[in-house]
Amino acid sequence: MEFAKRIFCRSVAAAAALAFTATGAFAQAYPDRSISMIVPFAAGGSTDLVARIVAQKLSEQMGQSVVVENRVGAGGNVGAAAVAKAPADGYTILFATISTHTLNPLMAKKSSYDPVKDFAPIGLIGSIPNVLVIHPDVPAKSVQELIALAKKDPQKYSYASSGVATPLHLSGEMFNRMAGTSMVHVPYRGAGPAMNDLIGGQVPVMFDNLPSSVEFIKAGKIRALAVTTKQRAKQMPDIPTMEEQGLKGYETYSWQALFFPANTPRALVDRVNGELKKALADATLQKRLEDLTMTISFSTPDELAAHVKEQLDTWGPITKATGVQID
Ligand code: GLU
Repeated sequence: MEFAKRIFCRSVAAAAALAFTATGAFAQAYPDRSISMIVPFAAGGSTDLVARIVAQKLSEQMGQSVVVENRVGAGGNVGAAAVAKAPADGYTILFATISTHTLNPLMAKKSSYDPVKDFAPIGLIGSIPNVLVIHPDVPAKSVQELIALAKKDPQKYSYASSGVATPLHLSGEMFNRMAGTSMVHVPYRGAGPAMNDLIGGQVPVMFDNLPSSVEFIKAGKIRALAVTTKQRAKQMPDIPTMEEQGLKGYETYSWQALFFPANTPRALVDRVNGELKKALADATLQKRLEDLTMTISFSTPDELAAHVKEQLDTWGPITKATGVQID
């Protein structure tokens, strides 16, 4: 090999070795300060509930606080867009859902971020059913009874959700389409404030992620009419599915996952993925999430990237068919 080439090769090798140790050392020192976990929905919703459980565990494991920050608005779009623009240094994590990484980008006329290009996937946490719940004074004990009431008095039966382009908004529109009702959508900044109004009787019907409804259903403060998944939730086996009550083919759900901004060093992605894996293997944490009706399904970063693409493909035609677009 001629001299100049040899030198060049050697310096490339040296640079590569240096980069490798620098990244390794960087990953080893990480985290040396607190990490922000951006929750794109209000306190009290299932996103916030699960994020706080996961953040607490990650804080214990990593020896630095993982601080939950609620950045709410536009069905998760505000929080997700903030993380997309955050420094890719490992100190900002998005606690993402099907809203931020599938439905919102699909249903927005112009999304302020790209769910694939603007993020570095860390790992999937799990999936959760949605549920149709009503104020206990609404005289319906089944989906068919609610359909009859809503058809008779369309003005009266509006439904609350966690926000535009959430799986709850989609659940409501899918319900209207399949049942022939025209309940008006009332979007909130998360399930927390929506639930306050459902319990207070300001709105008679709500579509929610099941985790944030569980305790209120058990306390009799709200009545659950149906879960939106194909199967009943094993923790709440008395709630029938939509399909069982005549809405054939009806299915919605949510999922939750962690993302960094795009271009976050792979060593940091792998580090947090490893911490997430460890957290989700903890029996106490597993029980807390399962009691909330979550099906835990940890994934690698690459599997999460594939999951997002699969979800965009799955929900693209469905969101188009419902015809709902948001600004
Ligand atoms: N219901 C959720 C919340 O308010 C957000 C919807 C979702 O799952 O994306 O936290």
